[in-house]
Parts: sequence; C-alpha cells; structure tokens
Amino acid sequence: MIRLLFTLLLLGLLPAAHADNDITVPMKAVRLGAHSYFVQGQPGAASSENQGFMSNAGFVVTRDGVVVFDALASPPLAEKLLGLIRTITRQPIKRVIVSHYHADHFYGLQVFKAQGAEIWAHRAAEGATRTEEAAQRLAQRKEALFPWVDDNTHLLEADHFVDGDTDFEMGGLHFALRHVGPAHTREDLAMLVREDGVLYAGDVVFRGRVPFVGDADSRAWIAALDKLIAVHPKVLVPGHGAPSRTPQADLVFTRDYLRYLRTRMGEAARNLVPFDEAYEKTDWSKYRAMPAFNEANRVNAYNQYLRLEAEGISE
Ligand SMILES: [Zn+2]
Repeated sequence: MIRLLFTLLLLGLLPAAHADNDITVPMKAVRLGAHSYFVQGQPGAASSENQGFMSNAGFVVTRDGVVVFDALASPPLAEKLLGLIRTITRQPIKRVIVSHYHADHFYGLQVFKAQGAEIWAHRAAEGATRTEEAAQRLAQRKEALFPWVDDNTHLLEADHFVDGDTDFEMGGLHFALRHVGPAHTREDLAMLVREDGVLYAGDVVFRGRVPFVGDADSRAWIAALDKLIAVHPKVLVPGHGAPSRTPQADLVFTRDYLRYLRTRMGEAARNLVPFDEAYEKTDWSKYRAMPAFNEANRVNAYNQYLRLEAEGISE
C-alpha cells in the first residue's frame, strides 16, 4: 500500500503530502579537509524553533562513493543534508556510520538507506531501536518535532555491526572506526579519516566546557579518550557544537577532568568522607571558570561519588 502511494506520488497523481515539513533552518556544508565536510547543528535541545537540527553530521567524498557520519534528527533533515552532498558530488552514498543510537543522530537513516547506503554501527547497538525506551523517545519526538518526525519516520537498525575497532578503505581513503564506548553510550563509535586527519567523535567529546558525566562509566570514558588521543587528529568534529582545530588539548582536558573527578571522589568514598564535605574540600579552581561548571560539576561529582562508592563495595 505504501509502495502504491509512493508510486502515485512519484507520478504526480497525489498532492505532495509533506510539503509542510520542509526544513527552513539554515544548514551549510563546511569543508574541514580535502575530502571531509560537516554540518553544524544549532545550540540547545531539539525544538520546533531549530526543527530538530541541533546535532552535527559529517560526510566524506571519495572517488568511489560517499561515507556519511550520523544521519541527523529526522528524515527531512537528512534530505536537506543529502541535497547539500549533491551540490558537491554525484558519487553514490555508500555507507552511513552511526555514532550512537540517540534520536538526534539516527532518525534520518531511511533517507540514506533509500539511496542504497549500508548502515554501520557498533554491535552494542543491536536491538537499540526495539526497546521500550526507543518507542517512548519516538512518541516524544513525534510531538516535539512534528511534522518533521511523524508516522513516516522509521527507526532503522544497522545492516552491518562492527565488533570493535575496524579499519576500511574506500576510493583511496583510509577510515579508522574506533569503539569508544561505553562512555556516552555503550555503542559509541568515532571515525577518523586518515588522509585528512579529521576525527568525527560523536558525543564522547565535549569542547571547551565541563562535560555532563552523570553516572557514566568514567573509567571506560577515560580509556576511550586515550584511544582518540592516540590517533592524533588534526581536526575534531564533536556530536554537537563547533569543530576543534586543537583536538589534542580538548581531548586531554576532558580526560584529565574525568581523572580528577575519579581520584578526588574515589578517595572521599573510600575514606567514608561525606559527599558535601568532600565536595567543599576539593580544589575546583582549574574548572570553575569553564562553561557549564555550575550546571554540571556538582552533579558529576555527586554521581561519580556514588558510583565509586558502589565500585569500592563490589571490589
Ligand atoms: Zn547522544
């Protein structure tokens, strides 16, 4: 039935049902290297003002096809991204790498799938579209981002799961996928384009601000950042916000902050120092002036205190 409607639509026999869901927020392709581009979402949470365009996506043009990194927060956003790619190359979209299965990074997948692209994600994302949480999130987005997310939005699983760090070559370019979860999610994947030194990092790297750590597994997150530091990127594209031309400094800053949280809060938990007292006694001067310190630091410290207390007990 859907196919029939689609055919009729193509033949111009039905009025275009979704002419009202065009994306009008500006999106532009920014070149970061000889082959690597990205689009930068707007600040803030998904809303009808930004039409859900609040996360970044990247694409890499090789002479054998295009690799896309993340698919944005709705099919119309992905259509807009595809249109931008088409202003640069006629090469087929061969592959989409999903950094992680949060709504703002994968709801546009169906657009690239329709182009024949193969969807790749980390194995830990298997089943991520079939959970109760995924259904609730979709329902919430149909409200918050209607008409861009509606009953025609389909949550797509990967066609191919990578089990760990995976390198591949396409059209003379060398790609390095790095599994950096569990950090932001269990399935976090980052992608380095070796020839360009461009690293698409997803949501594991926060730039120039205190990250939201919450009760994340900070030990694994530190290991993930060490992995990214080891690939020596020249440019880093985070999942949100502006790219960095000083990625080593950003990666080291976030890693060292996580280490500091773990050391200080771990010590306090081990010595049975109550959280409030430990927090007051800790020297936060290195981080106090950073953006998001007030919103994030105490919550991070508290959650990590509880986590390290539990880790200590389980040892
Ligand atoms: Zn995310």
